[in-house]
Amino acid sequence: MTHTVETPNLLSSSFGASHQVNIHRFGTIGARPKVYIQAALHADEYPGLLVAHHLINRLAALDEQGAINGEIVVVPVANPIGLGQRVNAQHLGRFDLAGGGNFNRNWPDLSEAVLKRIEPHLSEKAEMNDQLIRDALIHKVTSLEVRNELDDLRKTLLLYSIDSDVVLDLHCDFQALFHLYSSIHHKALAHELGCELGAHAVLIETEAGGAPFDECHAGVWWRLKQKVDVKTPIPLGCFSATVELRGQQDVSDELAQQDAKALIRFMQRRRVIAGDPGPTPEPLCHPTPLEGTDIIYAPTAGVVVYHKALGDWVEKGEVVAELVDPSVVPQDQARTPLISRTNGLFLTHMSERLVAPGAALIKICGELPLEHRESGKLLEA
Ligand SMILES: [Zn+2]
Repeated sequence: MTHTVETPNLLSSSFGASHQVNIHRFGTIGARPKVYIQAALHADEYPGLLVAHHLINRLAALDEQGAINGEIVVVPVANPIGLGQRVNAQHLGRFDLAGGGNFNRNWPDLSEAVLKRIEPHLSEKAEMNDQLIRDALIHKVTSLEVRNELDDLRKTLLLYSIDSDVVLDLHCDFQALFHLYSSIHHKALAHELGCELGAHAVLIETEAGGAPFDECHAGVWWRLKQKVDVKTPIPLGCFSATVELRGQQDVSDELAQQDAKALIRFMQRRRVIAGDPGPTPEPLCHPTPLEGTDIIYAPTAGVVVYHKALGDWVEKGEVVAELVDPSVVPQDQARTPLISRTNGLFLTHMSERLVAPGAALIKICGELPLEHRESGKLLEA
């Protein structure tokens, strides 16, 4: 049995109250490959909490059988700060109410600090460079300054994740089909993960903008690769993905068990866990560029009326929804149509039926890059 639970406490924000992060570890520390999986960094995204619960149960059983070859870290509640944020009896877990912004934005780019530390020691041996980078990453994260509780949460999670070979960040959208985000440098692995999980979209980004948690991990490696001489080979040492477990209300034991089983199969295929995963399931989609996904923002306030449902195919120029302002006179001008700028799959929409201007209301996943998405941040706030 290798299963242990570590429970670091975060810097307390007030007298007599502190948050704790529970870290489940399986396998031998330092064994490879190392997989890190966390749930609900956006603390109001609940499906991952239940997936993590089923995953931990399954991993504990596999551990008893001695089937863990590598190292696996599971953080079932990655954001205890956000989990406790309630305003007027509503749970709000996407943004830090203490002023720290979106919990899944502004994660550090560690590539410069790592490069500074390793540059004199790089060699022509990729394996040695790989180890140098992982050691430098741990060194850098250990020295990150902590000024407040959110800093401490970020540092705590990074201490367990940053040297991993695979990082899976479990999220969800408001109402959505299963989809995931990953880097263009890991298109093949992202496709494999998408097949395993039954993803309806695998969104591939060159650089998402906004610095999410997944990019903090894989990004170090491809950025270093771009910065150093070709004579000193840098492997792409970490595959990371943001896994969108459908919509916020898609929470059931059946779905969570299905997703946990798929994650186990993915880890068996990567030889982190012993056992035969069987053939890879047929894909439900092929990877598409993130800049091909149209995000329709609300241009005005209104009551939203959808004319398309999740999973529908949408043509460019088609009206997918309307915003209705019942106070407008005359009444025939009360409706503002929302029009798709791509041919694609109706992938996500917001849950609220009353929206404010600027709300990122709808995502339609198209195959071709869109001109209006080629500059600026590709992720919504
Ligand atoms: Zn999220």
